[in-house]
Amino acid sequence: MRALVYHSAHDVKVDSVPDPVLQQPDDIILKITATAICGSDLHLYRGKVPGMKEGDIMGHEFMGVVVDAGPAVTTLRKGDRVVVPFVIACGSCFFCDMSLFAACETTNPDRGTIMNKKSLRPGAALFGFSHMYGGVPGGQAEYVRVPKANVGPIKIPDTLEDEKVLFLSDILPTGYQAVLNAGVGPGSSVAIFGAGPVGQMAAACAHMLGAGQVFMVDHHDYRLEFARATYGVIPVNFDQVDAAECIIENTGFRGVDAVIDAVGFEAKGSALETALTALKLEGSSGQALRQCIAAVRRGGTVSVPGVYAGFIHGFLFGDAFEKGIGFKTGQTHVQRYMPELLAFIEQGKLKPEVLISHRMALEQAAEGYKMFDKKDDACRKIVLRP
Ligand code: NAD
Ligand code: ZN
Ligand code: ZN
Repeated sequence: MRALVYHSAHDVKVDSVPDPVLQQPDDIILKITATAICGSDLHLYRGKVPGMKEGDIMGHEFMGVVVDAGPAVTTLRKGDRVVVPFVIACGSCFFCDMSLFAACETTNPDRGTIMNKKSLRPGAALFGFSHMYGGVPGGQAEYVRVPKANVGPIKIPDTLEDEKVLFLSDILPTGYQAVLNAGVGPGSSVAIFGAGPVGQMAAACAHMLGAGQVFMVDHHDYRLEFARATYGVIPVNFDQVDAAECIIENTGFRGVDAVIDAVGFEAKGSALETALTALKLEGSSGQALRQCIAAVRRGGTVSVPGVYAGFIHGFLFGDAFEKGIGFKTGQTHVQRYMPELLAFIEQGKLKPEVLISHRMALEQAAEGYKMFDKKDDACRKIVLRP
C-alpha cells in the first residue's frame, strides 16, 4: 500500500510499504477514506519529538471502512464506516474505568515524555506518534491496523459525509475537552491562545456553549479573521500588542474567567526561549503559557490542550499562586466525547468541516505538510484522500 513515511526532520514521503495485517483478535483493518494533518504532526515533522524512526508511518486523524476484523471484535463488522480516536485504549483498566482513556495503562509499553517518572506506569499508546507512544503505525495511508477496535472506533451513519465527522478523531474532542476543562458556560469570558485547528475547534465549542466575550490570540491574521467571521471572537495579534495586557484592559482590569493554551511547546514570541528549546536547554517555550497565566482573572482556570514536554524555566508559578489559578491539561480522552459530539454534528450545532481549507490526494501529503507548517496559501486544515 501507499503511506506517508517519516525519514528525518522535514523529510516525509509517500512510499510503498507492506499492507497491515490483523495481529490481535480484537484488531480491525480499515481502508482509509479520509485523513488529516494535525498540529501535533508538525512537532514530529520538525524533528522535535524523540522516538521517531525512519520508516514510521504517520497520521492519527483518520476514518474509513472496516475491511477485516479479528474474531474478538464484537461491536463492528466488515463494511462499517468508522472514525477512529487517536488514543488507543483498552476500555477496562483502572483509568479507562474512569473514562480517562488517554491514561490507559495497558496499550503503551514505552515511557512517554515524563522526566521525573519514578516507577509510574505509562499512559496510552497513540497512532503514528513515535516509539515513545507505542510506535503504532498511523493512518496517513491506504490501510491501517486499529488495535482495541471494540473500544475506540465510532460508527458513522451513512447520511453524514466524511468531512463532517473526520475531526471527531482528534481536534474536535480536543477543543471540546479544553473548553469543558476551562469551565466555560453561558456568558463566560474566555481567551484562546493559538488560532490553529485546535484553537478554532475550542472557539466553535465555546460558541456552542454560550460563552460571552471570547478573545483569540495569534499572529496569523488570516486565522484570526476566520475565527472572527465564523465564531465571533475578538482577534488579538500578539505581534502588534501585548496580548495579555490587551485582554486585561478589555475585562475591567481583571482578566478572563478562563484561558485555553492551544499553542504548546513551540510557542513563538521569545527568541531566547526558541533558541534554548532548540539547544535542548529548555524543554518547552513558556511564552504562551506565561501570557495565559497573565490573562486569566484571579480564581480562573488555565486549560492547556497544547502539547508540552519537559521543563520550562520561565514558568511563573508564583503568579499562579498569587492569583489562585487552576490548571487542567493533557491528551484528550477522545472516546469519552465522541458520542455526544457526533450528536451535536447530527443536530447541526457543530459544523467542524468549515475549517477545511485544502483537500489533497494522499500522494501530495509531503506538499501538504510543508504548506501547513509554513502557513502558506492561508492554510487552516488539510484533508488527504488515499
Ligand atoms: P497549529 O500549529 O496549526 O496552531 C498553533 C497556532 O499557535 C499557530 O497558528 C501559531 O501561529 C500560534 N502561536 C504560536 N505561538 C503563539 C503564541 N505565543 N501565542 C499565541 N499563538 C501562538 O496546531 P494545532 O493543530 O492547532 O495544535 C495546537 C496544539 O495542540 C499543538 O501543540 C498540538 O500538538 C496540540 N494538540 C494537543 C492535543 C491533545 O490531545 N491535548 C490534540 C491535538 C493537538
Ligand atoms: Zn491530532
Ligand atoms: Zn485502559
